[in-house]
Amino acid sequence: MTDHETLQSLLDKADVRQYDCYQCGKCSGGCPMADAMDFGPRGIMRCAQVGSLGRILGSSTIWLCTGCYACVDRCPHDVNVPALIEEARYEAARRGIGRHDSDVLNKVFVTNLKIFGRSHEMILAGLYNLLALKPAQDVAALPHMLAKGMIGIKPNVIEGNDELAEMMQRACDWDKLEEKK
Ligand code: SF4
Ligand code: SF4
Repeated sequence: MTDHETLQSLLDKADVRQYDCYQCGKCSGGCPMADAMDFGPRGIMRCAQVGSLGRILGSSTIWLCTGCYACVDRCPHDVNVPALIEEARYEAARRGIGRHDSDVLNKVFVTNLKIFGRSHEMILAGLYNLLALKPAQDVAALPHMLAKGMIGIKPNVIEGNDELAEMMQRACDWDKLEEKK
């Protein structure tokens, strides 16, 4: 598949038509992450319009989007930029150009949920720091957070966590099947 065809397939899966966007910028104006992003949602749509798949996949924007949908709410044409961003993330991951930190956090978070049924912050942060090679990140805040009861040492395991783990596994298997299509 050429990059042009791949981009078109991402747009189709996201149900986004690139020329619906007329670059008004209302999306980027309301995006809470825009300051940290390289392109922002408006820029992603511009890249799609000029057919630059490489710029989309290599952007920080696709990894910093929180999926809050503020951009969709503000868009006068209901352009679903986060849906396109999500498809772009899958494609970036397939090509091995995912951001290491985001990938690590995602894996640690999902594993945490599968084991305990809810996120246990101490384990989440500890494992993330270890695997992302940032052993000292946020360590200074730990005593304060423990003293205030903001995080606990012992994980709370929810009732029926094995069912949740099974459900999540099915969702992951489904994603893998979708990726092969
Ligand atoms: S708000 Fe909608 S039309 Fe305006 S730039 Fe963003 S995606 Fe395009
Ligand atoms: S969904 Fe993503 S791109 Fe849209 S406003 Fe939220 S963070 Fe920004």
